[in-house]
Amino acid sequence: MFPEYDVIVVGAGHAGCEAAAAAANMGSKVMLVTMNMNTIAQMSCNPAMGGVAKGQIVREIDALGGYSGIISDKSMIQFRMLNKSKGPAMWSPRTQNDRMRFAEEWRLALEQTPNVDFWQEMVSGLVVKNNQVRGVRTSMGIEIMGKSVVLTNGTFLNGIIHIGEKRFGGGRTGEKAATGITEQLVELGFEAGRMKTGTPPRVDGRSLNWNVMEEQPGDEEPGKFSFTDTKPLATQRPCHITYTNSEVHEILKTGFEKSPMFTGRIKGLGPRYCPSIEDKINRFADRERHQIFVEPEGWNTVEIYVNGFSTSLPEDVQYKAITKIPGFEQVKMFRPGYAIEYDYFPPTQLDATLETKRISGLYFAGQINGTTGYEEAASQGLMAGINAHNKVHGKDKFILNRSDAYIGVLIDDLINKGTDEPYRMFTSRAEFRILLRQDNADIRLTPIGHTLGLASDDRLEKVQQKVNQTEQLLNDLNTIKVKPEEVNQILEKRNSATIKEKAPLINFLRRPELEIEDIIKLHPEIQERTKSLSQEVIQQASILAKYETYIEKEKSLADRMGDLDNKKIPSGFNYREIPALSKEAKEKLSNIQPTNLGQASRISGVNPADISVLMVYMAR
Ligand code: FAD
Repeated sequence: MFPEYDVIVVGAGHAGCEAAAAAANMGSKVMLVTMNMNTIAQMSCNPAMGGVAKGQIVREIDALGGYSGIISDKSMIQFRMLNKSKGPAMWSPRTQNDRMRFAEEWRLALEQTPNVDFWQEMVSGLVVKNNQVRGVRTSMGIEIMGKSVVLTNGTFLNGIIHIGEKRFGGGRTGEKAATGITEQLVELGFEAGRMKTGTPPRVDGRSLNWNVMEEQPGDEEPGKFSFTDTKPLATQRPCHITYTNSEVHEILKTGFEKSPMFTGRIKGLGPRYCPSIEDKINRFADRERHQIFVEPEGWNTVEIYVNGFSTSLPEDVQYKAITKIPGFEQVKMFRPGYAIEYDYFPPTQLDATLETKRISGLYFAGQINGTTGYEEAASQGLMAGINAHNKVHGKDKFILNRSDAYIGVLIDDLINKGTDEPYRMFTSRAEFRILLRQDNADIRLTPIGHTLGLASDDRLEKVQQKVNQTEQLLNDLNTIKVKPEEVNQILEKRNSATIKEKAPLINFLRRPELEIEDIIKLHPEIQERTKSLSQEVIQQASILAKYETYIEKEKSLADRMGDLDNKKIPSGFNYREIPALSKEAKEKLSNIQPTNLGQASRISGVNPADISVLMVYMAR
């Protein structure tokens, strides 16, 4: 019934969709098996993409030739650049999306990708021979053979949904849990764990009183994720802000004794930075109110996502409490919030390509690795899809370093440090965040995406043009000099120090009180030269000039880290033979088997003294 595939992807969530698209676009024959083809690329929780650090990831996926940025742009209803008042390393694009359109666009994109076949069924096991994956087995007993398998099961593995004291099996509300895979993997020697996450109620927008809420419009000049020619929005839908109050909190507290979290029925750890409303009330008892973002689920639907009110308290308590939020007095609820517990596999069982160390050709990507979030999942899917293709076709492993991309930071953290609570990306996790900006993701990664065969010639040309024009503009700013009499009046007006001698324009750009737009006004020649340049190029030159010192510092730190990464450790190295290593280091290093000294240095429990010992030993 089926041919043998190069890559079988299990699950069509954010990770699975990117994995299937990447492998197929690189030339692999791909089978995407998913439990329900009507829920391809479902946004299980909020209808939004990006945000702090996550927006950078979406731009990186796009720059490499993945689809998440394009799909987000095609389905967005609002765009905001978060953290605009901070430095450019913190600027983070975020879109509010039309949930149904997002899923539809993904499905269309996959259907239009040659090389992707689909099969709707639950995968209940893997076909494994001699520690090599050979395919998958479905719940109907069908075997689909493949040279590699990417598991992206999300929150579905033995998923249990909790609402108050009610508890039932499910991978998401209204969808069955997936069984069989965890049990088989554990039998094969894998370690599995339990995590949990939660979601808020959805309500009927027609029943809300918008007049008492604060409107939160999108950016006046909305941007977009993709570096391709997707269109920014001409009109946007606003979100709204309201707050909980002590009355809401008191009602919620009446449900605490039935809370699956507080009564210990939920064992798995939840995302610390995305706490439920009952958790917030409990942990921050002195807070009088909590912010609620009231977010539309699409262009035309009346369904509303109540962001900030994630809960697994009994549905009647949820309802009673929500009616006390200003604007929600007459609310009609569509679906209650719930929590879900699911299996994950500690990601230290993977190498940097996301291939499992135990079974050759088997890859894990997304929530199954202990992460949370669409963006984290999608980026892992992309990386696993690329690597599965490369392995099957005898090509090199594809690894991004911590100084290349947030995606590199994510995978490096997962495989070396592991995680026992849902891992989400933050800018603080990246030591090179001034290098890993959203504005330069194309410059960093499109040449790599092009070499992989994922980014088109057009995209590469566009990046080269951006680089050339930026360099030219920086050169102009360096060479065009202004006299004191030409600029001092303007400088005074801007409360910026006047000059006594001729100075190049770039000097003014380094002043924090002046922006590139001010500098352009200082001289007719630069005005003329920048006329034909895009905002993107002007902004790029501005960032490079303003932050030059920081950028150079991070680059040299990255080079030093690269030196350690280049010191390879032979596979199967016996750490237990080195007496000077600490006991913990011996154990962790033997377990994780790092491929180089840089990776070894990032394993938790391995300290600088252990690395020095290893360096001396290797040098011998
Ligand atoms: P998923 O999007 O879960 O997709 C898994 C796919 O695999 C589905 O298509 C499913 O049908 C399919 N599948 C599973 N098992 C099988 C099988 N055996 N055979 C065939 N197909 C299979 N993220 C946040 O960042 N913040 C939040 O607040 C947040 N809250 C959440 C609340 C809930 C209730 C849920 C369910 C998720 C939440 N998430 C949240 C997480 C976010 O939805 C996930 O991180 C993201 O969807 C993970 O993507 P994924 O591709 O790994 O898996």
